Amino acid sequence: MNQHDLSRVFAHVEQNRQSFINRLIDYLRRPSISAHGEGMGEVADYLVAWLNQLGLKARLMPTPGWPMVLGQRTDAPGGLTVLLYGHYDVQPPDPLEAWVTPPFEPAIRNGRLYARGAGDNKGQHFAQLLALEALLACHGQLPCNVIVLLEGEEEIGSPHIPGFIREHKDMLNADLVLISDGPVDVSGRSRLEFGVRGVVSFELRARGANQDLHSGNWGGVAPNPLWTLVHLLSTMKNAQGEITIEGFYDKVEPPTELERAALARLPIDVQAVKQDLELAQLDAPYERPFYDRLMMWPTLTINGLHGGYGGPGSKTVLPHEAVAKCDIRLVEAQTVDEIFGKVEAHVRRFAPEVEFIRQGGMDPSKTPLDSPFAEPIRRGIIAAQGEEPLLVPAMGGSLPNYVFTKTLGLHTFVVPYANADEANHAPNENLEIERFIMGIKTGAAMLMYLGAARAR
Ligand SMILES: [Zn+2]
Repeated sequence: MNQHDLSRVFAHVEQNRQSFINRLIDYLRRPSISAHGEGMGEVADYLVAWLNQLGLKARLMPTPGWPMVLGQRTDAPGGLTVLLYGHYDVQPPDPLEAWVTPPFEPAIRNGRLYARGAGDNKGQHFAQLLALEALLACHGQLPCNVIVLLEGEEEIGSPHIPGFIREHKDMLNADLVLISDGPVDVSGRSRLEFGVRGVVSFELRARGANQDLHSGNWGGVAPNPLWTLVHLLSTMKNAQGEITIEGFYDKVEPPTELERAALARLPIDVQAVKQDLELAQLDAPYERPFYDRLMMWPTLTINGLHGGYGGPGSKTVLPHEAVAKCDIRLVEAQTVDEIFGKVEAHVRRFAPEVEFIRQGGMDPSKTPLDSPFAEPIRRGIIAAQGEEPLLVPAMGGSLPNYVFTKTLGLHTFVVPYANADEANHAPNENLEIERFIMGIKTGAAMLMYLGAARAR
């Protein structure tokens, strides 16, 4: 790859810095709240118009909910195709009174741009699109083929992306997926993320008599549904931290050599975490390293256990119903169907009278660290930022990236541009202006290194 070509793009970004910031401000001024629809159509149209100006032959693709924005530009026939994914919807801005300046009147304070969507995700995909614009302005064409896919329902759980991806595989014919969302590391270091954990949520419902009863008159006669759930839950995880549902770990993939090395390099101060949270110790098993817990192991969390009386003083009641809400974070290569099936079989076996209610889930997703695309992406980040990114095997949380890795079969990478304290989903969401500018350069550099890697 020609360093001179990349320097020209960086210089172009610097020369246009103010106009790029002004255009982002104009974009953030437009609400696009998927939860209730405000501004969604206008922002989708705005994106289609801009993508068309960039020669991406864009259009709105209907879904049963808000439409997808899809565009494609083929400058390297037979060459590498990168699918850039982002989302143009934002979270509702409430509570409005907690914002220092109104959420849709972008304001700059101390080098940060404050507005709903500044970091999540408008500021980040805007940077990616400006990277395309900068590459085209400097070189007249893109270093690889690109498909741009912008979703309008990420903030309401992406209900229609699995179906959309399944039905439009032919239009999403790419070699890899590149996403810029979420924050960089708290240390300020850039991250190159290879995976996310999956999740399933379920409810356990136990019933006793048809009404609450007096614990003196009926205790020892009528069964207590809270005890039923306590006994059942205690068969699902032991005090050593092992999940004891049969076959639960069967499909869990142990970390590869590269993943082990990457995990060991992630900065963490466990003592500080414990101090922050006022924890005497981490969860069992105690000897497990911090990032192994978050990235390599599944969890079973009781989110809530409800029933009977919880008010002041005492009440000698024998409750008639009890409910437990739980979630399980999944790791590669567990699946939602597999784990739902195993938990349900466990409930049938240990407490057949308890109702098991599935409440939805998302498969995990992981791209191997030795993917051939990882190195050019890493080098692009270093070229733009002057610093080695942290390699993150998986994120603890869950995103529907499996639609790219599993439905499309593509290696998928997340390179966040936003500051760690972007306050996404919260009042006073913000993006550091320098990170926005660096995001444009990073986006351009990654595409140039990817294009050059394939051309070689
Ligand atoms: Zn979000």
